[in-house]
Amino acid sequence: MSIAEKLAKERRARLAAERLLEQKKRELFAANSQLSLHARHLSDQIVEQRHGLEQARCEAESLKGQNSQVMCDLRRATDAAEIAERRLWEAVETIQDGFAVFDTEMRLVAANGAWFALFDGRTDIQTGIHYDVMIATLAEAGIVDLDNSDIHDWRHEMTERITRAEIPPKTVRLTDGRYIRFIDRHGSEGDMVSMALDITEAVDREAELEEARARAESANRAKSAFLANMSHEIRTPMNGVVGMAELLIDTDLNEEQRLFAETIKSSGEALLTIINDVLDYSKIEAEKLKLYPEPFDLERCLHEVVLLLQPSARDKGIKLLVDFDLFLPTRYVGDPGRMRQILTNLLGNAVKFTSEGHVLARVVGLELPDRRFDLHITIEDTGIGIPPDYIDHIFGEFNQVEEQSNRKFEGTGLGLAITRQLVELMGGTIWVDSEPGQGSCFGFRVTFAPAEPVQVIDKPDRPILLKRALIVDDVQINRVILERQLQTYGLEVTMCRSGAEALQAVAGGDAFDVILTDHDMPELEGPELAARLRTAGIVSPILLLSSDPDAAEGGTSDMAAVLQKPILRSELFRVLQDLSYPGPKEAFLPLDPAAPPPTLGEKRQMRVLAAEDNRTNQLVFRKMVADFDIDLQFANDGREAVEQWRSFRPDVVFMDISMPEMDGREASRTIRAIEVERGLVRTPVVALTAHAMDGDSESILAAGIDHYLTKPLKKAAIADKIGELCPVEARPPLGTRPAAGDTRHTV
Ligand code: ADP
Repeated sequence: MSIAEKLAKERRARLAAERLLEQKKRELFAANSQLSLHARHLSDQIVEQRHGLEQARCEAESLKGQNSQVMCDLRRATDAAEIAERRLWEAVETIQDGFAVFDTEMRLVAANGAWFALFDGRTDIQTGIHYDVMIATLAEAGIVDLDNSDIHDWRHEMTERITRAEIPPKTVRLTDGRYIRFIDRHGSEGDMVSMALDITEAVDREAELEEARARAESANRAKSAFLANMSHEIRTPMNGVVGMAELLIDTDLNEEQRLFAETIKSSGEALLTIINDVLDYSKIEAEKLKLYPEPFDLERCLHEVVLLLQPSARDKGIKLLVDFDLFLPTRYVGDPGRMRQILTNLLGNAVKFTSEGHVLARVVGLELPDRRFDLHITIEDTGIGIPPDYIDHIFGEFNQVEEQSNRKFEGTGLGLAITRQLVELMGGTIWVDSEPGQGSCFGFRVTFAPAEPVQVIDKPDRPILLKRALIVDDVQINRVILERQLQTYGLEVTMCRSGAEALQAVAGGDAFDVILTDHDMPELEGPELAARLRTAGIVSPILLLSSDPDAAEGGTSDMAAVLQKPILRSELFRVLQDLSYPGPKEAFLPLDPAAPPPTLGEKRQMRVLAAEDNRTNQLVFRKMVADFDIDLQFANDGREAVEQWRSFRPDVVFMDISMPEMDGREASRTIRAIEVERGLVRTPVVALTAHAMDGDSESILAAGIDHYLTKPLKKAAIADKIGELCPVEARPPLGTRPAAGDTRHTV
């Protein structure tokens, strides 16, 4: 081989080697790049992993912290639970009452010492024992006083009760005298908590209270009996005192003697009022007061009360006025006795606390959809009034206004308390408005059913034909009330304030069909005015309106009639009717003793039987009817009354209610029974009761008694009854004198 060849070969070899080297370099580079990429990737991974590791370590750290917190909390919670449980049990142990918990099987889970103590220290009573076994132990070991009841019944009762969803409490008496009340309750899981309360003290106290109540009730009964008895005992002689004083006043007395007799009478009456107040109050207190509703005439009832108070009002110079709503019916269903009592109380107070001016009783009302009437009754006075501080108290018991202005008035302070109770018993309300020095207005509201189909005003069977009326009265309210009444009867009214004005009115040529004049007017009194009118040639009928018709006597010759004030609508209507149809009528004949009816001689005397055990009261009765033309007999008790009723055949029997042997009720019942058996005519029986509100009015009426009068007896009231009940075949017993309080017509 040539050198050239050799060189060429070498060069080729070198070139090949260089190419290889080059390639290997490239490959190395690529490998290096690859390696460094990989290395970078690896390092990234490492960084990442290190971070994750760090995080994990942190988390692990934090978890470790949390774990120890939880452990700590747990320890604390366990401690707290232990403390709570210990405290709970200490508390449960501290309480005096037994406490036990039973599981759903009714086995004792836990109980306090007081619970175990119930079992007299018996060691077999432990946790795990069944409820029924505990109950059996209580009974069989003689721990419970079974009070003769059967042991099995008792056990059954005790175990049966806990099967109920709501377990009723049960009280048992232990033989050691204690009382234990078991109060048990099921838990939501069906377990049961039981408490055994020692209620011995409460039971003992209850027994003491019960005993005290029984003692108080028996004392109260004794008090009521004593009051009733005492009031009867006091009333009987007091009736004698008052009745005799009234008779004494009717005799010939000098001024001083009259004053003494009148004082005895008024003091006696005041005392009787107080006794009645106290009795009523004690009845209200004992809730024994009942209402006895019956049909009655409210206007008449009010009128009667006003008439009763008229004398004292007149003595004080105050006017007593009534304004009864013209469009209201007058008859209602209510308790007339109690209504009278309410009105007497309010009107009595108004008169008592008024020294000048007037007292006005006003009745207004509205018909309700149920046809009943809502009545508002107000009593207004112009008296001393009531200071605002006292207003709220005066309806309370024994409360009186304690002021100088009030000192001089007597009273029990019970009147308004009783009145309020009565009004409330009737379902009504009472109130008062008052201004010191100006006057007071007491009002009450009650709802009553009308007694009969409502009649707005008297149905004119004989309509009034009078056209023009003249009213003469110095009191404005009087004029207004009268004007309204006359206008409803269709009259045209002229009003005058005095006699002088009236004389002017007639002198002016005005003609009137009727002249109504007040009696007591300043300057010119009614009778004097009538005389002057007659002198002036006025022939119109004149009606004298007087609060004291007795005082008008002698001066009434010019009058067509004398009407007692306040005037009842029906009364006024009747008089106006009679003036519309002149002519002789029985009721309007003069009561002239000199001209007895021609038939008088043929009639017999009226027979009156009075049953009264008390000699003084017999004497009072005898004296009161002494100048009546009657045949009077007395019976000393109920039995005698029945016997005398058989033999004497009286036209009326006055019957005392409270009599020995046979009381007035029984005597009346016996008389009624005999009348029915024999078909006899019913003899009117008038009861004489100590107190109209005795509450026995029901039994009185049930006994067949027709009327009753209240003691102390009044001559006028007896006269009214005798006059009213006189049969046609008997001579009018009061022929020579009219009953007091009657309207006298001298047409
Ligand atoms: P009393 O028996 O004292 O009259 P009441 O209960 O009837 O008892 O009345 C209580 C008090 O209310 C009276 O004492 C009086 O102070 C006051 N009072 C009652 N009515 C009136 C009246 N119309 N005017 C002024 N005060 C009155």
